Amino acid sequence: MGYIELDVIDDRQKKIVIGIDLGTTNSLPAIWMDDRPQILHVEGQPALVPSVVNFPESGPPIVGHEARARAVIDPTNTIFSIKRFMGRGLADLEVDTRTLPYAISENENGVVQIEVRGRKITPPEVSALILRKVCEQAEAAFENGEVVSAVITVPAYFDDPQRQATRDAARLAGIEVLRIVNEPTAASLAYGLDQKGAGTVAVYDLGGGTFDVSVLSIEEGVFQVLATSGDTQLGGDDFDRLLVDLARTELAGQLSPEELRDPAFLQAARLAAEKCKLALSKDPEHDLHMSLPGSGLSWRRTITREEFEGLIAPLIQRSIDCCARSLADAELETSAVNEVVLVGGSTRVPAVRAAVEKFFGRKPHTELDPDQVVALGAAAQAQVLMGGTRDILLMDVTPLSLGIETVGGAVAKLIERNSTVPCSHTEGFTTYVDGQTAIDFRVLQGERELADDCRTLGRFKLTGLPAMPAGMPRIAVRFHIDADGVLTVTAKEKASGVESTIEVKPMHGLTDDEVEGMLQAGFDNAKEDFDARRAADLKAEIGIMLRAIEKNFDQAREHLDKETLDDLEEARVAAQAATEQDDLKPIQTARDRLEEASTPLAAILMDNVVKQAVSGKKLEDL
Ligand code: AMP
Repeated sequence: MGYIELDVIDDRQKKIVIGIDLGTTNSLPAIWMDDRPQILHVEGQPALVPSVVNFPESGPPIVGHEARARAVIDPTNTIFSIKRFMGRGLADLEVDTRTLPYAISENENGVVQIEVRGRKITPPEVSALILRKVCEQAEAAFENGEVVSAVITVPAYFDDPQRQATRDAARLAGIEVLRIVNEPTAASLAYGLDQKGAGTVAVYDLGGGTFDVSVLSIEEGVFQVLATSGDTQLGGDDFDRLLVDLARTELAGQLSPEELRDPAFLQAARLAAEKCKLALSKDPEHDLHMSLPGSGLSWRRTITREEFEGLIAPLIQRSIDCCARSLADAELETSAVNEVVLVGGSTRVPAVRAAVEKFFGRKPHTELDPDQVVALGAAAQAQVLMGGTRDILLMDVTPLSLGIETVGGAVAKLIERNSTVPCSHTEGFTTYVDGQTAIDFRVLQGERELADDCRTLGRFKLTGLPAMPAGMPRIAVRFHIDADGVLTVTAKEKASGVESTIEVKPMHGLTDDEVEGMLQAGFDNAKEDFDARRAADLKAEIGIMLRAIEKNFDQAREHLDKETLDDLEEARVAAQAATEQDDLKPIQTARDRLEEASTPLAAILMDNVVKQAVSGKKLEDL
């Protein structure tokens, strides 16, 4: 057969490699077979696994369709939407936790754990159960196949801890991860756009709860994500909600406010709304029909497609605004986009397709099932990684800038946001205090200029530095992001070879909202941030100048006349006072004044250096 097999152990067992779309609601495996990616089927049905796990009173956990069916009767022991918890801490989940039917807490590492049947279980453990089930389905699709490796997809906005948590899940499920791939990247692979020399591709992904857009470029076989943007609170569920709101408004005369808030009413309204929405994707009008046997309610109202489109127009516009933003990030005009790919069930809504077509000025690809595109692309990527024929290289981008804290609380950015990964950047740093033998590094993520306004990803220490004068050690700090988006930071002192490294730990991650918020804050505070950063840099400079003056004050007393010395002393006091302030202007003035007042001292010191050099000493020895 043409599917990817590692080797044939005997006639009966085959090791297979698959692509997995590990989704919030559903997960789906696909495989490369007969020269194209294909969704795996079991008994004629796609091998789709609802991403739901139920923990029964006794016996092993139940995963998938059966677990989803049990959610109604056993909600406190049924876990759904685990993907939203991956790589997160409790603080990130404030909104989600209130609506959860089960208790959640945090372990000592800041990792969320869910309490079911007196047991605490982490998100990667739950995800591992889902992955295991997906593999079993894939194996059932073949006679005696065994899944050994997989390409697993994650949202483009997943940060490092979230990707790590996904890897952990695969490890727990006993699967080797060939690569973690961004969902939009997989989608464009599914369409084989790498083969067409497509140029620039936009991937528009509108699901039930979230929206993502990515701009990719394909050049000479290199596949690169140029920019990503999104909205975590935008999807088909919001379309349903607008129809529910319409029903509630029109039923206000018939039902009491309590009845309109009743969970049973709301659940029935949501189901009726979705049914009506699905029908409107193909019919010009459909009845929104609700009946509640308990209250004797039976209500019907015809909704035209036009009316529905009017309701959802502002939501569609929000997604289009995101598209505009990602193009601006990629510094591209809409006319530069050569192909548009649609992903997610909600892209079946004709008005969504029309809006996307209008914005990009071209017809989007709709040939593949928008719910299967990501899994198909994952299988295509697996085939490439297994040494298949498609000669492509995949690159993604970092959603936020990465850097370290420098003296005075400023941020030195080593990797700018939207940089292509894998990537590395090395920058030189030095010590700030004489005889310093250790340096603390704080690894940061965000767009702001001050460390405290960014998110701390981790801290580490470089110890064992030889005691040298301030400014002498040459410390190379290297940031490396691998193809899966995992960050490793290394600091090395060149002369002594002392080295320290961290792989950024899976502390809890950022919500997509926070990523958006941090980007926005970066824009909103650009001027203030610039000033704050400049002030921090100037204060650090003043600190260095003051220490140098103090160190050489004896020489100043010896060689400078009284007036110059008084002037220096005055400037010194003023500069010291300025470092207590936050306003840029007085700090700048004090620093300039200090520089001016210390120029005569600097001249004397330079003179001495030259004299000593002439008398046979090397500059470095001084
Ligand atoms: P996904 O998260 O990609 O599975 O997308 C699920 C969302 O797509 C849900 O909100 C569905 O109601 C919506 N959806 C699926 N099929 C259609 C359709 N034919 N027309 C409109 N919305 C749809």
